[in-house]
Amino acid sequence: MAGQQKQRMSLVGGNPTVMPAMEVPNLLKTKKESVRTVRLRLLPTKQQDKRLRKIADTCSKLWNEVNYVRRKAFFEKKKVNIEETYREYYERYKKLVGCVTTQQVLNKNNEAWNSFFKLLKLKKEGKLPPFIKKLTPPGYWKDKTLGKRIKRIIIRSDRYYIEQVNNGEGYITLKDFNVKVKYVGRIKWSGKQGRLEIKHEFNRWFAYIPIEVGEDPSKSNPKGYIRGGCDKIQRGKPRGEEAAFVDIGLNNLFAAVVTSGDAILVKGGVVKSEYYWWKSEKRNTQATRDLMRNNGLKIWERFHHRYLRALFKSSERLRHLYRTAVRFLAKELHERSVKSVYLGYPYMITQDNGNEHNTNIWWFRKITQWLYDVLKEYGIELFIVLENNTSRECSVCHVIHENARVHRGLYVCSVSGRKMNADLNAATNIAYRVGYVVSVKKVESFIVTHNGVKPVTPLRRGIAQDPAVKPRPSRRGEGHPPQLCGVASVCQADQRRRISRRNPC
Ligand SMILES: [Zn+2]
Repeated sequence: MAGQQKQRMSLVGGNPTVMPAMEVPNLLKTKKESVRTVRLRLLPTKQQDKRLRKIADTCSKLWNEVNYVRRKAFFEKKKVNIEETYREYYERYKKLVGCVTTQQVLNKNNEAWNSFFKLLKLKKEGKLPPFIKKLTPPGYWKDKTLGKRIKRIIIRSDRYYIEQVNNGEGYITLKDFNVKVKYVGRIKWSGKQGRLEIKHEFNRWFAYIPIEVGEDPSKSNPKGYIRGGCDKIQRGKPRGEEAAFVDIGLNNLFAAVVTSGDAILVKGGVVKSEYYWWKSEKRNTQATRDLMRNNGLKIWERFHHRYLRALFKSSERLRHLYRTAVRFLAKELHERSVKSVYLGYPYMITQDNGNEHNTNIWWFRKITQWLYDVLKEYGIELFIVLENNTSRECSVCHVIHENARVHRGLYVCSVSGRKMNADLNAATNIAYRVGYVVSVKKVESFIVTHNGVKPVTPLRRGIAQDPAVKPRPSRRGEGHPPQLCGVASVCQADQRRRISRRNPC
């Protein structure tokens, strides 16, 4: 079978479980293909901070009020009158934050409601993808626990401009409010600037600027052009015709199999430890906060602050890891002449930790979006394979063996006796579902860290080996079964050392 690859049946067209990522409802944002969003950190002075807070609070109040009226109508099963409520609140708020900003906030709320209605329609037709379980109307800009509004400002594309001082910093001028705020952050893209959103996230201000890459500014707003680095999204072409099949998991963030026989494992150990660390931090601060609050101690707000910090930090740090991994994977696949990537919908991930379903699925959506965007830079196409059981099935016999996952990471076929990495097994199954037969020849392992992606075995890169069942010490003190001589001898030596330490004579 080595090196053999063939196409079993017609691709994408006749196969309902495979679809281009762009066509999966609500999986990717409904933004324009050519738009990339840049996120910049704002560093306002004290007075500017005060002013931004005031404006943002009014914007947020407007959002919440108009949303309240619309939600009320929705839950009372009346028609949500978008136009009438729009007019009403526009008149009420235009004097407070100016016509343009009022319009922008209302437009954004309109968009949120329209996409909600679109999803409702899809649900009626039964076309929702399986990972969307519950539909809720647009929410409020509000921290539920503190009862305070979340601060956001929305600025129309021609009501601000950017002055770059150098590659990493500059100034954003908000024309309507006469504010010139310093920003830090690298702008990667060049193109026409879109609607600016300023968000207050855990005591920091961030500006989100969508850039229509390569597009010229409109004549009415010649200043609305941002000069970053690249004025084209796609800067590379696929080097060959290979296909890659990717499985997303927790232990192996990505397990990718290429039709040429190469396999890439991107290990997510750091992601996992980061994830669980912040999870416990969140849990602890939340518990303390609630305890304090239930006993009427004012200090609870401090713990809420710490809770919010944990939320912010965990998402920031995970985001960094995921994005590093995504970019790395795209680059590696490009180097292996990949033209199309098939991404499996993760089902098994919920088995390791059932109640973390939502978190993981949420990241799945994000990762898919990022992967889609980054692959696009190389001209690689992304498809989604909606399929269960790919990690339980055997990639040799294509049936589900019971108890084949010996350890979490090891899959043993009980018929042929072949041992495989469980995630690579899943990736091979995704290939099979799509219509390819791939046999893995060479496995390379990498690990994502905060300092980039690193090869796991730098000196032994790319040696294909079937993983073996490693003996695991059953319980401390009990020792090891005698037949496992390698580990046991080390352990006995250890014990001897310990004994000698106890009796120095
Ligand atoms: Zn088998």
